[in-house]
Amino acid sequence: MTTRDTKINLMGLSLPKMQAFFHDLGEKPFRASQTLKWIHQRGVLDIDQMTDISKPLRERMKAVAEIRPPVITQELRSADGSCKWIVQVESGSSVEMVFIPEAGRGTLCVSSQAGCSLDCSFCATGKQGFNSNLTTAEIIGQLWWANVKLAGFGVQPDTQVDEDGRAPRHPRPVSNIVMMGMGEPLLNFDNVMDALSLMMEDQAYGLSKRRVTISTSGVVPAIDRLQDYTDASLAVSLHAPNDELRNQLVPLNKKYPIAQLLASVRGYMNTLGERRVPVIEYTLIAGVNDHRQHARELAALLKDFPCKINLIPFNPFAQSDYRRPSASSISNFRQILHEAGYTVTVRTTRADDIGAACGQLVGAVNDATRRSERYRAAGNLAVMIDGPGQ
Ligand code: SAH
Ligand code: SF4
Repeated sequence: MTTRDTKINLMGLSLPKMQAFFHDLGEKPFRASQTLKWIHQRGVLDIDQMTDISKPLRERMKAVAEIRPPVITQELRSADGSCKWIVQVESGSSVEMVFIPEAGRGTLCVSSQAGCSLDCSFCATGKQGFNSNLTTAEIIGQLWWANVKLAGFGVQPDTQVDEDGRAPRHPRPVSNIVMMGMGEPLLNFDNVMDALSLMMEDQAYGLSKRRVTISTSGVVPAIDRLQDYTDASLAVSLHAPNDELRNQLVPLNKKYPIAQLLASVRGYMNTLGERRVPVIEYTLIAGVNDHRQHARELAALLKDFPCKINLIPFNPFAQSDYRRPSASSISNFRQILHEAGYTVTVRTTRADDIGAACGQLVGAVNDATRRSERYRAAGNLAVMIDGPGQ
């Protein structure tokens, strides 16, 4: 007999995988759509509540499968209406997800890994080192939980019509997803792709491809094959206008330098067509990458590269000496790009009172790379690195 631990977790099955599950049970593919709707649209965790599935089939499903979302251990609500949840994953680490309500939309910032191996110099998650890849169930489970926890918050359908004119049939609190929580999504490729497919699947969450964004620090081989798996939107964490500076901020740049990265992103965007452009993310750090000359260099670098630019004022955290630039430096930087013809947005800092702003996400990670110990040895204060429940 199958024990609980070896049961298939239906929470993490994409439509094709759910169809394969029912195929193995000798059932028709439409059972997959029924089951996806029960789990992801009606929030059902008990197979017995799936009343359009016969009792004998439910019994056969229960013998081999269950629906297991990740465990939420803490909920924090910010004064600005944002929410942060701490999610415990099967590896024993915790990750964070953040909901940011804005007029006419609700954005969920989703984590893809516990910790991150890429060690960007300005990122709290990177300082923790890497612990584990999240399973598909743990990634999509964040969206499942947000919809459950925020039920009743509902974004009004008339404000939720997409550029392509499509209104979701089931207005829900979460209208937009950004894979900008903890971790590098393209280093957990397969699980993230399956989770994205559920986010955009009509039988599950039915979000438009324009409202689901992968953020990457530039894993070029993964961007090169992205087109075969998804048509989600793309944000690229650039942070510097030249390789010398980017090597210091994003160590991955030594492997995949800027020219390679931009060529790869252009390739992906070309396959999407429809005048879709990537977002270039640029975290502004005082005295490091926020000089007017950096803005001019960035404008020149991106001259023939259709994109929008999102400036993120650095969010401070304990182990970092970096500082956020003054409001006037941020505005000067923006102005130079604006005058060069770019669409530029400056990300307003939300939810920093609950440690949920960009780059402040730390969870509680068992650091498999031992980076936290190196930090301790170096005399730095390392926070929240010792595992869940601390
Ligand atoms: N690993 C992915 C996604 C997670 S990070 C990536 O790097 O893109 C999400 C965004 O937050 C990235 O653009 C990242 O550069 C930015 N970020 C990280 N630390 C930050 C900090 N301390 N202040 C402001 N932005 C930060
Ligand atoms: Fe990892 Fe992104 Fe943080 Fe870099 S910025 S360490 S890639 S999570």
